[in-house]
Amino acid sequence: MDLAPLVDTLTRSRRTVVVTGAGMGLASGIATFRGTDAGAVWAHDVMEMGTNRYFQANPVGSWRWYRSRFASLQGSKPNAGHHAVAALERWQATRGAEFLLVTQNIDTLHGQAGSERMCEVHGRADRVRCSRVTCTHGAPRGTLPAAAFDWAAFDAAPADDTSPRCPGCGSRIRAHVLWFDEYYTEHADYQFERAIRGMKQAEAVLFVGTSFSVGITAAALDTRADKWLIDPGDAEAPLGVRVLKAAQEEALPALVAALPVS
Ligand SMILES: [Zn+2]
Repeated sequence: MDLAPLVDTLTRSRRTVVVTGAGMGLASGIATFRGTDAGAVWAHDVMEMGTNRYFQANPVGSWRWYRSRFASLQGSKPNAGHHAVAALERWQATRGAEFLLVTQNIDTLHGQAGSERMCEVHGRADRVRCSRVTCTHGAPRGTLPAAAFDWAAFDAAPADDTSPRCPGCGSRIRAHVLWFDEYYTEHADYQFERAIRGMKQAEAVLFVGTSFSVGITAAALDTRADKWLIDPGDAEAPLGVRVLKAAQEEALPALVAALPVS
């Protein structure tokens, strides 16, 4: 694993963006959506159930599915890669350079590892929001902690009358996640515009554990920045993206250790 060219890119960059996807969570035991890992979530169910259309047609079924998905995230801990991304942010800060993390993951592990300058563009598993689009109850930016609701009654007997309701207006609450039939601009808390602005201004973009099949990565590709992908497999990187073939949980800590002390 020759880290020198990537170290050189990061050292020269005054504005660095890291884009992470599902591959980041594998070392924390989180199954991917589209991957080939043993636990990969059945694509059919995801495409069917991970939609606003399904929530509208069957809100109880939608919440049952999300409750089981979110339960599977419980107990997951940040891995060495998450900690290294947070360390990279601190390294950039100490030398007065810009840093932004754009993550497609809803597992909150980056935040748990200490990342702060971050756009969680697909939402967060630990937050919910009112399903009435015009209701802005909650903070920040109209979201509420899922833990603030009493789920015991719903989990014991999932039904309409046990479904948690918005304290502000009484409408149903929904998962604070980007569904497949929705747009990044659907909710301010996804911070899509901040992510796009960061990518456009970036001098270096580092992709980790992402498949390039998700919309946000296309925007990141469309920059003049030096672009790198850390991937353990034989992933075909788009034109102009250099590849460091390695597992992220090994490559990222090694990379951080190799950065010059400023
Ligand atoms: Zn409401």
